[in-house]
Amino acid sequence: MASECAVQVAFSLVRVSLDKKGGNMRVLVVEDEALLARQLTAALRRAGYAVDHAADGERADLLGHDERYDAVVLDLGLPKVDGLTVVRRWREAGRAMPVLVLTARGSWHEKVQGIDGGADDYMAKPFRMEELLARLRALIRRSSGQSNPELRCGPLVLDPRSGKVTLEGAEVKLTGHEFRVLSYLMHHCQRVVSQSELTEHIYSQDFDRDSNTVEVFIARLRRKLGPAFIETVRSLGYRMKAHP
Ligand code: CA
Repeated sequence: MASECAVQVAFSLVRVSLDKKGGNMRVLVVEDEALLARQLTAALRRAGYAVDHAADGERADLLGHDERYDAVVLDLGLPKVDGLTVVRRWREAGRAMPVLVLTARGSWHEKVQGIDGGADDYMAKPFRMEELLARLRALIRRSSGQSNPELRCGPLVLDPRSGKVTLEGAEVKLTGHEFRVLSYLMHHCQRVVSQSELTEHIYSQDFDRDSNTVEVFIARLRRKLGPAFIETVRSLGYRMKAHP
């Protein structure tokens, strides 16, 4: 294994070139204000996430039960069913995805209720999009048991902040879907991840999904990264090796 230190130095050198086309995973935005919903969805897509949107609590409740999200941005004041009820229902049903709650400015009782109801973090409106993105990255990282902002697998480093992947310090160019597959596997390092689980985490709801394409993404990742990192576990799925 290459020394961590050497990798770190080389990595910081290539990091200067900023080419943001990378991605993260799958996020649900629940917001009834059309303009804010559009801004949030656009910013998250630019950051590489697959994004679904719900404009009321009923739809959010349904999507949160049926789909697999890596994080949710949830407004509390919503038509039909309020956000607080939605997060409580999810938690009661065992849905554990991290939830970042959006509250009205200065509404401390909403924050307290939100967090008591099962939310993981909150932001008061208006907020800076950069801060929201940083908090989401931290929530996703912590929910998958990672504490370091960079995900490492020997000489392979993935940085969810910049959407960049480097191998022995050299940048590896990946498409958005390839990045999401790799990002999900690296967040869940050493765990066997099935094809259907990967499929559920890399596409937004309106995307025409095909679990066979996961095989294609894995094959392309192996071509770009070498065969050592992603192991096929027969009839179960794939596993990212911690020490290739
Ligand atoms: Ca609202």
